[in-house]
Amino acid sequence: MFGLMQDRPLLISSLIDYAATFHPHAEIVGRTVEGPVHRTDYAQIQRSAKQVANALETLGIESGDRVGTLAWNTWRHLALYFGVSGSGAVLHTVNPRLFPEQIDYIVNHAEDKVLFFDTTFAPLVEKLAPALKSVRAFIAMTDRAHMPAIDVPNLLCFDELVGSQSEQYEWPEFDERTASSLCYTSGTTGNPKGVLYSHRSTVLHSLMECAPDTFGVNSQMTLLLAVPMFHANAWGMPYAAAMTGMKLVMPGPHMDGQSLYELMRDEKVGFSQAVPTIWLMLFQYFDAHPEIDTRAIGLKRIGVGGAATPRSMIERFERDFGADFVQGWGMTETSPIGVIGNLLPKHLSMPKEEQTRVKMRQGRGVWGVELKIVGEDGQRLPHDGKAFGHLHVRGPWIASGYFKGEGGSVLDAEGFFPTGDVANIDGDGYVQLVDRAKDVIKSGGEWISSIDLENAASLHPAVAEAAVIGIAHPKWQERPLLIVVKRAGMEATREELLTFLAERVVKWWLPEDVVFVDSLPHTATGKLLKTKLREQFKGYVAT
Ligand code: ADP
Repeated sequence: MFGLMQDRPLLISSLIDYAATFHPHAEIVGRTVEGPVHRTDYAQIQRSAKQVANALETLGIESGDRVGTLAWNTWRHLALYFGVSGSGAVLHTVNPRLFPEQIDYIVNHAEDKVLFFDTTFAPLVEKLAPALKSVRAFIAMTDRAHMPAIDVPNLLCFDELVGSQSEQYEWPEFDERTASSLCYTSGTTGNPKGVLYSHRSTVLHSLMECAPDTFGVNSQMTLLLAVPMFHANAWGMPYAAAMTGMKLVMPGPHMDGQSLYELMRDEKVGFSQAVPTIWLMLFQYFDAHPEIDTRAIGLKRIGVGGAATPRSMIERFERDFGADFVQGWGMTETSPIGVIGNLLPKHLSMPKEEQTRVKMRQGRGVWGVELKIVGEDGQRLPHDGKAFGHLHVRGPWIASGYFKGEGGSVLDAEGFFPTGDVANIDGDGYVQLVDRAKDVIKSGGEWISSIDLENAASLHPAVAEAAVIGIAHPKWQERPLLIVVKRAGMEATREELLTFLAERVVKWWLPEDVVFVDSLPHTATGKLLKTKLREQFKGYVAT
């Protein structure tokens, strides 16, 4: 017997309709590619989204067609988020920081019918256009005055194309399992693979972002959206923002420390999320400007994910900014909420030091994401905080496979998605990431966590950023190599760092050697690019 409740589909259009109805004047503020700060609100974004939907119709876009974007976090991109998906088409956010060959591959693989792009990427678009066979129109996301002078077929101006459309549009109703957006993983190995989200997965995921034990998104918050909208839907925040009418502040192309700080200060930002690299950049700016009163910004909550967070980062946010720090773990394939690390009641009376230790773990399970760790034989391992194995997840916002079946069937026998991460889970349900399976260092049959070593090294005051990779070793098979970028104006020697580490990790974990470099390579999403480091240090022999 079915229940008798209304069976309304969970659609993305309902999010922007809600925001426009109940929070019409909540602000959307952002730096633009053209330069100035642009201010609008949810009522206007809804109208623009409807104009986008009408524009897509004139371009012959049908339900299920892919609409590509190569764009920063701006109001035009936000209008596309709701307009494209709301109309039944699929928003394909392309990461402009990928190599041109990867972008070429992704757009062709997705068969994007049109491509919206920010003028920053005009030279890239001009170069790629001849190879983008499926794209029938290129739409520059700007006004007539700023149109780029590039030679591509069917070059259109966003403000003219969209601005000339009617603001009247009835969102279609369809099955909530319909595809809504497409995002390719950055492909640190092999070709990028497409994760195809649905309206249902997106709306359910947004609801979870509003839960107080996750990020507690609500209308009283102001969010600086520092996760790019081309990276796992900006961690789903644009949707959760509309679901609650939260004020959104968007940096556009200006992701440097000074620009982020100015937006935080001017717009009274209380909440922001980003990968650690972005926060390191912000810290560098504050290091150079000790006169700034960081507490005066009024940051209340900082979310970090996408890569391991150094302890020093947690401490600094709490000490210098007075902000509550929340770490999350997830991936493009998990929408991205996987686990989130808020404290439990029993932690509240503990000393700060203990609380920080809890926050160093990647996070706890949330409703909607089942977790298990399994050994090499696929058998479940206990949640005792000691046993570690491959982390598998299952739930309504977790991928069941990749677009066009790339990579074949990926789920295990119980329907869980193998994440490629190695982790332990403690008795309270907190997950601790040991490493990515491919980054873990296999030394004499035992595993060394590159993440733990990096965390330990980054506690040293002279270390701005640290990476640990395995180098071949005749006896132990692999041994860790520590690669360090020193903080500007500070010094440290190999011996000093090894002595420092010896106090923090077991003896057999100590790196074979320490190398100092000017900078470390990062992926398009700001993570350490260990494949590149491994290439660079192939055959390295410790001194
Ligand atoms: P890609 O796989 O393309 O690099 P994702 O953004 O999907 O892009 O990356 C997901 C991966 O990032 C996870 O599998 C995990 O290895 C890493 N990661 C995510 N969050 C954390 C975290 N809090 N701590 C450590 N690693 C993390």
